[in-house]
Amino acid sequence: MIKSTKIGDYEVFFLHDGEFWLDGGGYFGVIPKVMWERLVAPDEKNRVVLKSNPMLVKTGEHNVLIDPGLGNKYNEKQVKIWKIKNEPSVIDSLAQIGMTPDDIDIVVATHLHFDHMGASTRWQEPGVAVPVFKNATHYIQRGEWEDATHPDVRTKGTYFLENYVPLMEAGLVELIDGDVEIVPGISVEVTGGHTKHHQIVFARSRGETAVYFGGIVSSINHVRIAYTMGFDLYPVEIMQKRRELYERAIAENWLVCLEHDPDYPAIHIKFDGKHYSYEPYQF
Ligand SMILES: [Zn+2]
Repeated sequence: MIKSTKIGDYEVFFLHDGEFWLDGGGYFGVIPKVMWERLVAPDEKNRVVLKSNPMLVKTGEHNVLIDPGLGNKYNEKQVKIWKIKNEPSVIDSLAQIGMTPDDIDIVVATHLHFDHMGASTRWQEPGVAVPVFKNATHYIQRGEWEDATHPDVRTKGTYFLENYVPLMEAGLVELIDGDVEIVPGISVEVTGGHTKHHQIVFARSRGETAVYFGGIVSSINHVRIAYTMGFDLYPVEIMQKRRELYERAIAENWLVCLEHDPDYPAIHIKFDGKHYSYEPYQF
């Protein structure tokens, strides 16, 4: 079942692109296990489940896909380490709403980590990756592109060239600098935090707003300011950014979309005078 809602005149769909399991320590950063295991039960290897939740916005003029997902270009070892299950895929999800990858004309990447952009290419033959959304322009921050094409010792386990270099070779990438309106109603803001040039994506229509938070808040269990991930490159920046974004989210009643939550792809942010929390969106 594909969940959907309306934002003004836009239709917003919460797609699936499978699931994977990450080490709970990595997923909850400095939060001790005695605290995070009250929120989510780890498996026998201390891993917790993450879904891949790409978001589709149909504006009437454009079909905008945000963070296509995990994809399936993984070897046996990776599948085992991350317990990857790439079903239903983003392509299966599109089929469920009567669409194909060819219908997508805009892809926006919050950042280029494999679990967000893996689904943007597929193996045509072993070692040869080709674009999946071949009619789409892929909007990527220039700084993120630079970092992802020159991974360092800390980031090389998360940036895989086959997920985005083929897009550039096919002429499907538009590099953007800073906060940009991509088409009327669809815009990005650079947040940093998770990666240096990480961006979030807004869909705005008739005074209503949906925002895709990408790596800023991955799940309901990461709404609390201090609950950052071990994978966040700049966790202190994320904490500051969350406060600022939460204030705007509450003031403007944003529908906040969560990339990796297994149960709640969309929430509203709440504040009780002391702590930030959430309310799941009722579809
Ligand atoms: Zn990431």
